[in-house]
Amino acid sequence: MALSVLDKRWLLEQFQDRVQFDEPMSRHTSFKVGGPADAVVSPESILELASLVHYCRRNGLPYLVVGDGTNIIVRDQGIRGVVIVLTIGFNGIDRVEEKDDEVIIRSMAGARTRSLCRYAIRHALKGMNFALGIPGTIGGAIAGNAGTTQSSMAEVVDAIEVFEPSGNVVRYLKKNLCFSYRRLSWKTAELPIILTGYFKLHPTDATQLKKEASEIMKRRLAKQPAGSPCAGCFFKNPSSGVSAGELIDRAGLKGESVGGAQVSSKHANFIVNTGSATAEDILLLMERIEKNVFRIFGLHLEPEVKILGY
Ligand SMILES: Cc1cc2nc3c(=O)[nH]c(=O)nc-3n(C[C@H](O)[C@H](O)[C@H](O)COP(=O)(O)OP(=O)(O)OC[C@H]3O[C@@H](n4cnc5c(N)ncnc54)[C@H](O)[C@@H]3O)c2cc1C
Repeated sequence: MALSVLDKRWLLEQFQDRVQFDEPMSRHTSFKVGGPADAVVSPESILELASLVHYCRRNGLPYLVVGDGTNIIVRDQGIRGVVIVLTIGFNGIDRVEEKDDEVIIRSMAGARTRSLCRYAIRHALKGMNFALGIPGTIGGAIAGNAGTTQSSMAEVVDAIEVFEPSGNVVRYLKKNLCFSYRRLSWKTAELPIILTGYFKLHPTDATQLKKEASEIMKRRLAKQPAGSPCAGCFFKNPSSGVSAGELIDRAGLKGESVGGAQVSSKHANFIVNTGSATAEDILLLMERIEKNVFRIFGLHLEPEVKILGY
């Protein structure tokens, strides 16, 4: 449902220059593709977020939250309704608790994952180095259980606070969260908005931590294509044990392209935008990869990247 004149007026009154109408989502995704969202809104406080969600629900406007858009593709026709971005008002990181060998760090959902990694290194705290080089926000990282072969958010999250559609802020301890491979599942159809993550880290030797950090970054830079817009690994690794990248490579698809979308010749599980890609190009290439991998290996590849819009 498109926004009415009244909706636009209300949004402008509440959010002034923190609302953009018909905003190209290509400006909010690392793939640099995606049609316009009816409105992109940046609330700065929980009160503002609450009144926005309340307004959307009361008026039947769809809404969704995105972080830095590094794990999404927005289709070329864009997104109807309101896209909520938390990077302006929800980005603090601080130490909230210390006991024995544990330190609890609180990070708001709009803070960058790299900021939390740097905070941990600066304070000689072990646990976050695995996430070095993962772009995006803490909210996006928790929502997708971002990680590497070394670890994932599920290993370091101690608790989270979410804003539920009903308007309540609820704290979930880790034992009550349903993390799985690149996923955090909820029982409700209407997804809560992640506000804060609490991370359990451990004091360690600062020099050793920095050394490990630079090795991790070196390995990452050597493996992944630099420069071209993308969303990281496109497909989840199947449970069969062979990585998605290896399957795509063995299917002879490195360098395969549709329009401006191309399978990276450096890392076969990266689809890159060579400059002129549309979301449709990327999705057609995705389908071609899925079909070929299934035909050759009998395995279904599942996208890790979330496809939004229409
Ligand atoms: C070069 C590159 C390398 C990458 N390497 C890795 C890697 O090693 N490992 C890995 O796991 N990922 C990797 N990624 C993917 C991506 O960076 C991560 O998944 C990241 O954590 C997504 O964060 P984001 O803020 O960009 O989320 P977005 O892409 O904006 O959103 C992703 C999903 O999370 C939801 N979401 C976002 N914020 C919230 C919130 N506050 N509450 C509820 N839901 C929310 C969105 O609705 C969407 O469904 C890489 C991406 C790139 C471009």
